[in-house]
Amino acid sequence: MSTKVVKFGGSSLADAGQFVKVGNIIKADGARRYVVPSAPGKRYPKDTKVTDMLYACYDAAARGADFTEMFEAIVKRYMDIIHDLGLKIEDRLVREFSTIRMSFLARAGRDYAASRGEYLNGIVLAEYLGFAFIDAAEVIFFGEDGKLKLKETCHAVKERLSGLEHAVIPGFYGSMPNDTVKTFSRGGSDITGAIVAAAVSADVYENWTDISGYLVCDPRIVPDPEPVKVITYRELRELAYMGAQVFHEDAIFPVRQAGIPINIRNTNRPEDDGTMIVEEAPDSVSPYVITGIAGKKGFVTVTIEKDMMNSELGFGRRVLEAFENYGISFEHMPSGIDTMSIIVHKDEFEAREKEIIRQIETSCKPDRVYIDRNIALLAVVGRGMKSQRGTAARIFAALAHAKVNVKMIDQGSSELNVIVGVEDEDFETSVKAVYDIFVTQKL
Ligand code: ASP
Repeated sequence: MSTKVVKFGGSSLADAGQFVKVGNIIKADGARRYVVPSAPGKRYPKDTKVTDMLYACYDAAARGADFTEMFEAIVKRYMDIIHDLGLKIEDRLVREFSTIRMSFLARAGRDYAASRGEYLNGIVLAEYLGFAFIDAAEVIFFGEDGKLKLKETCHAVKERLSGLEHAVIPGFYGSMPNDTVKTFSRGGSDITGAIVAAAVSADVYENWTDISGYLVCDPRIVPDPEPVKVITYRELRELAYMGAQVFHEDAIFPVRQAGIPINIRNTNRPEDDGTMIVEEAPDSVSPYVITGIAGKKGFVTVTIEKDMMNSELGFGRRVLEAFENYGISFEHMPSGIDTMSIIVHKDEFEAREKEIIRQIETSCKPDRVYIDRNIALLAVVGRGMKSQRGTAARIFAALAHAKVNVKMIDQGSSELNVIVGVEDEDFETSVKAVYDIFVTQKL
C-alpha cells in the first residue's frame, strides 16, 4: 500500500471549518496515513496565531505578570474548535490546560510554551480523525548541542508507527536528552513532516498550506502568475535564496536524502495539483523555458579599479579579506580586466562601510573605488535553460525593451540561473518584462 505523510499548516487548521476541509482531504485518499499538524494559525488577516499567543502569554508568566486573560484566550481557541466539531474532549483539554498553566508558573521555558500549540492541536485532530496520537517529544530527539539527531529520530518514528495504520504526530517540537521540550525554528512543522516522511519511506510528502504551491513570480508584482507544476530541489534553492518562500528550507534535507518528492498543496483548493518538488525532472514537464523569477532589493555594488590588476597576485584575496574581516559575506563578484565588483547586502555593508573601504585602500592601493547603491538582484531560474539556445538573449531583449538599464550579469556555470542586477526602482518592471516574454508570450 502506498503511504503519504501529510502536513497541515496553521491556516489549514485555524478553526473548525478548516478542520472539516482537512478531514475531507484525508478521507479522500487512503494513502494519507500519517498526519502532522501545526498549531491553529490566523483565521483572518488581523488575527493572532496560537504560537504567538503562547509566546506572549509565557513571557508574561515569566515576568511574574498576570497572564490569566491571555491564557483564557488560548483556551477559547481550542474550546471553540472542539465545540464546533462536536468533539467530547472538553475534560481532557481542561486537564491539559491545567498542566500547561502550572508549567508556565514553574518557568518551563519558551520552547515548551510554544510547542503546546501543536501538541494540543494534535490531540484535537487525532480525536476528530479517529487516529492514534503520538507525542512528538517521545520520538523526535535533539542532542546536547541542540541539533536534531536524525538517525535516532527516524528509527524511533519508524518503530512507533510500524504497527499503526494511521497516526497524528504534532509538528514543531521534540525533546532534549534531559527530557525538556525543544522546538525547531519558526515554521518548523515542515521539518517534522519531512522527518516522518523519511522515517516511514513515504511515497510522497504532502505539505498542505493556503496557496497552490509556488508561482512563477511574486503575485504582488504580476497579478495571478502561473503556478509552477514541477521544480527541482536545486531550482528551489536558487529561488528560495532570492526570496521565494513557501517551505522551511531545513525540511528539504531529510526527504531529499531519502528520494521522496514533496507536493505543496492548497487546503482551500484541494482540486489544484500544487507544486511537485523533485530531485530530477525532464525539461518537458515545464511549459516554459524558465521555472521561476525571484529577487530582492537592497544590494550595493562596490567596484574596485586598478590598472594592471589582472597581473597582481593575491589582489582578489585582499579585496575579499576586507569584507571578511568585518563579517560581511558577498553575494556576487563579477570582474573585468582592471575592475572587480563585490555585491553585498546594503544594510550589512553600510554599517561597516568606512572600515572596509579604508582596509581596501591600504591593502590593495586601488586607483579608484566607487559604490553603486540601491541595486536589486533578479534571479531567472530554470533547468530548461541549459538545453535552450538564446535564453539570455531573450532576457536582455525583454529588459532593453522595458527600458531597464542592466547593471550586472552573472550566469552560474550550472546554467540553472541568470542573475541580473538592476536599479531598485526598475525591479518590478524587470520582473514583469521577464515574465511577459517567457510566460505570457511563451517565447
Ligand atoms: N506553529 C509554529 C510557527 O508558527 C510552527 C509551524 O507552524 O510550523 O512557527
